[in-house]
Amino acid sequence: MKTNEAIAMTEQYVLHTYNRYPIVLDHGKGVRLYDTDGKEYLDFAAGIAVYALGYGNETYDQALKAQIDQVIHTSNLFYHVPLGTAAQKLAAASGMDKVFFTNSGTEAIEGAIKAAKKYAYLRDHASDHEIIAMNHSFHGRSLGALSVTGNAHYQEPFLPLIGGIRFADFNDLESVKAQINEKTCAIILETIQGEGGIYPAEKEFLKGVRALCDEHDILLILDEIQCGMGRSGKMFAWQEYEVKPDIMTCAKALGCGIPVGAFVLNKKVAENSLVPGDHGTTYGGNPLACAAINAVFDIFEKDKIVEHVAELSPYLEQRLDELVSMYDCLEKRRGRGFMQGIVVKDRSVGEVIQKAIANGLLVISAGNNVLRLVPPLVITKDDIDEMIEKLKKALES
Ligand SMILES: *Cc1c(COP(=O)(O)O)cnc(C)c1O
Repeated sequence: MKTNEAIAMTEQYVLHTYNRYPIVLDHGKGVRLYDTDGKEYLDFAAGIAVYALGYGNETYDQALKAQIDQVIHTSNLFYHVPLGTAAQKLAAASGMDKVFFTNSGTEAIEGAIKAAKKYAYLRDHASDHEIIAMNHSFHGRSLGALSVTGNAHYQEPFLPLIGGIRFADFNDLESVKAQINEKTCAIILETIQGEGGIYPAEKEFLKGVRALCDEHDILLILDEIQCGMGRSGKMFAWQEYEVKPDIMTCAKALGCGIPVGAFVLNKKVAENSLVPGDHGTTYGGNPLACAAINAVFDIFEKDKIVEHVAELSPYLEQRLDELVSMYDCLEKRRGRGFMQGIVVKDRSVGEVIQKAIANGLLVISAGNNVLRLVPPLVITKDDIDEMIEKLKKALES
């Protein structure tokens, strides 16, 4: 099918909830994608921080093909081998205790909220608990996740959402403190805010939130859906902060393209929250999804992916800082590891992205003026240099 036909067919039959860039992606190799006209793109978007291993990773692809030949789905009414091993790997990587697999990030948030509510319910037999979330956060599009997403524009048409959610300012401990009362059961935040514009939590802030949680028996839920799985230079971004969540959510790069998410609990919450009948999913953690997760963790270990990110990110940051200092329309860089944002001023970020795409570079935005770089975690120094050259061309055209 030709490029124009594919676009027309999509626009005719797919509900228009996305303004898509007018290219039709066809296949990928390494950190490059190719469209239906054969044009090559250096990929610094990774399908929104998903495709961490790059395209066509042989080990990953073979693991999925083998699982397809064996069995794709069984339901959660039975055991299957990849489920336990995938959960064990996620527990080991996080130092946490129990895992529930979902099909997406937003569902991981739903489960995290339910686990926190059930924990508080079992503790005080009340059902009017409150959750504190952050302004400019993003946790997903389902109604529960939307309820803790601090963006009035996303929420407004869908009110009323779930009750008892209070918003505080990210990186402002006093504003969090001001929202705490005897009903607060959880505080939810992204360790590094992604969609809101790439804002890493400050160390003192996150430690302060953890201390408040400990003081008031409030559960700390850290959303690692975007910043987790090695992107920050640690397997999970919170591992750099000397804090540990009670509940963590994962998705995006967890399956590297197979739709999967998870919420992960520490022992205290796992033993005092959800039990049979409280929560479920038909697909979640099915054999194909778990085969993907197992392959991802195996490859991360074998190829030292997290170490690679930690080693190369100072170079990425240096090159981006140079770029920011060269152009008046670039204000500053923010981020950790391979999750970087450049604040664009006096110029539309959408226009910069279109120019970048025309120059064969896929980048995306965050917030309304941030150019977001979330490349596959396997990029090399040469890829970074090439990205910088392509961005320069985009900025100069
Ligand atoms: C993408 C994202 C989500 C939602 O995940 P989906 O898989 O799109 O439902 C939630 N939280 C954060 C931090 C995200 O980046």
